[in-house]
This record gives sequence, C-alpha cells and structure tokens, in this order.
Amino acid sequence: MNVSSIRCEECGIGRCRPVTTPYLMKLGKHMLVMPDSPAYVCDICGNRFFDDEFLNGVHYLLEQAAADSRRRARRRQVARPEPAMPAPARRSR
Ligand SMILES: [Zn+2]
Repeated sequence: MNVSSIRCEECGIGRCRPVTTPYLMKLGKHMLVMPDSPAYVCDICGNRFFDDEFLNGVHYLLEQAAADSRRRARRRQVARPEPAMPAPARRSR
C-alpha cells in the first residue's frame, strides 16, 4: 500500500500527502506544542489531519503523565515520617 496516496475523506477526490506541522494542544491553562508532528494535507481542499499513530502516542503519553502527576500529588499529601532506624539487612536467601 502506498502511503502517499491516501484519499481525502473531506472532499473525496484529493490525495493527502505527508507533511510535518506543529501540533498544538491545550492542556488546562497550558499550551503544548509538538513542533514537527506527522500530518497529512489534502492537495485539493487543504484538509489537514494528523497521523493516527502519532495522536495515539501523544494521548498515551499525556495519560501517563497525568496519572504520574496525580500519583506524585497524592504522595506529597501523605506526610511520611522518615524511618528513625536503618533498614535491617535482608537475608531472605
Ligand atoms: Zn480534500
């Protein structure tokens, strides 16, 4: 299968060619920019869409990051006292 001949879903006649373009994403009050993101542009109507695999990857990473910061926020709330004694040497073998 030829990647360079993806039929445009918007106009149905154009062919979409791969380009790299900045991907902008709003995260709450922050703006995330991915400078060289893989996308496709229709040569007829100019419809632009991002690579599915790229989007899946970005969203996966964002979910991981969000889960990670949630975990960290929880950990900060729980004030754990420092162990007063050194950990005993493990002799489990
Ligand atoms: Zn098109």
